[in-house]
Amino acid sequence: MSNIDDILSYNKQFVGSLEYEKYSTSKFPNKRMVIVTCMDTRLTELLPKAMNLKNGDAKIIKNAGAIVTQPFGNIMRSILVAIYELQADEVFVIGHHNCGMTGLNPEAVIHHMEDRGISTETITTLKHSGLNLMRWLTGFDNVRDSVLNSVSIIRNHPLLPADILVHGLIIDPDTGQLELVDGAAGRQA
Ligand SMILES: [Zn+2]
Repeated sequence: MSNIDDILSYNKQFVGSLEYEKYSTSKFPNKRMVIVTCMDTRLTELLPKAMNLKNGDAKIIKNAGAIVTQPFGNIMRSILVAIYELQADEVFVIGHHNCGMTGLNPEAVIHHMEDRGISTETITTLKHSGLNLMRWLTGFDNVRDSVLNSVSIIRNHPLLPADILVHGLIIDPDTGQLELVDGAAGRQA
């Protein structure tokens, strides 16, 4: 059921036969890019290929939905680290069609949690804690609006240097086609 044994045995052979050599690069992104995108499995290889990105070209931050919700949450912190410490100077937020976060229903997620053994008491406690559980488990209605909102949070961040370009795009998870929904060209000095 678990993949761990297969992975560890494959890994021995991968390292032993020096297969890593072709991926050799530094920690600095060669194309000075940082990408925020979705964890969707269809994008694992497709997104870099569709953007002509090789190992070492871009910092890629992933979460469910390619969403930046908190100006001081950990996605934004990663973006700032990429910029200040790792030489990135261009940010790409890339949502995708047919995303699992489209229309994510918090009530349904909570039902699934209860089905898997999380107690109603725990759910109730969390609903009444400082954490807004319902909001936390809500996705978005429309990927375009979500990308525009994330781009806006990044662009308006008080700690973002003025010369950083921030773009919003949507990728087709089947063909890899990119649609630019908010380009930063107009912001270039
Ligand atoms: Zn997605």
